[in-house]
Amino acid sequence: MTYQPIALVTGANRGIGKEVARQLAQVHGLKVLVGARDLAKGHAAAREIGQGAVALQLDVSDRASVSAAFAQITADYGRLDVLVNNAGVDYDTDQRAFSADLDRVQRAFGTNLFGAWATTIAAVPLLQQARSGRIVNVSSGAGAIHDMSAGTPGYGIAKAALNALTIKTAAELQPKGILVNAVCPGWVATDMGGGGRPVPHGAKGVVWAAMLPDQGPTGGFFRDGVPLDW
Ligand code: NDP
Repeated sequence: MTYQPIALVTGANRGIGKEVARQLAQVHGLKVLVGARDLAKGHAAAREIGQGAVALQLDVSDRASVSAAFAQITADYGRLDVLVNNAGVDYDTDQRAFSADLDRVQRAFGTNLFGAWATTIAAVPLLQQARSGRIVNVSSGAGAIHDMSAGTPGYGIAKAALNALTIKTAAELQPKGILVNAVCPGWVATDMGGGGRPVPHGAKGVVWAAMLPDQGPTGGFFRDGVPLDW
């Protein structure tokens, strides 16, 4: 039987995540699990994507939801080839670090950092069962330490921490053959971003990191397959 890699994309019911899921399924032939905190929205996206894509209830900020989702993947497939940590919230341009609402920052960290961390922890045993495991952390230029200008303190600092998590997990998982990279999609025309970049262009750089060959890079930060400064 042909080996079909399985990918989980978090926050895949809209925006960049949905397009990443579409490209992985339609262009690269992967079995895609469409992570969505609202399962009905996940089903709608999975139907639109087709190619056997299935919805999976997954709120990355909710430990019980993460546990249930990975128990389901374990029971249904026993492995996972690709984890795309795409779910993200609260691009807080209206805040400043020196006066930030820390409850709000903490909530954003719950998804943007700890959500990705929780799914990574849950995914590693399943990634080890795959032929070649890949983790892609969807990050942002706003998380680059060298470019920490004013504004978006909760978002930017969480993405900087996500980049640090990328470096650590990449080093730890390299002996297991699992590649871990962070990707900035650029300033993309989604509900969150409102930039001018078409969604498929932003998603393509994320898909690139998900489809890296075994000798591909790990522990890097990329946009469109080109290394970025941390
Ligand atoms: P959108 O706001 O369009 O979509 C965000 C997605 O994440 C939605 O599907 C949303 O689900 C989901 N989500 C939010 N919180 C959770 C959670 N706790 N658990 C699971 N899913 C959740 O954002 P984008 O598509 O623009 O962003 C995707 C990623 O790209 C983010 O990590 C973002 O930080 C990053 N990025 C985006 C840029 C841009 O210009 N757009 C630039 C740089 C980085 P729901 O529909 O239920 O809210």
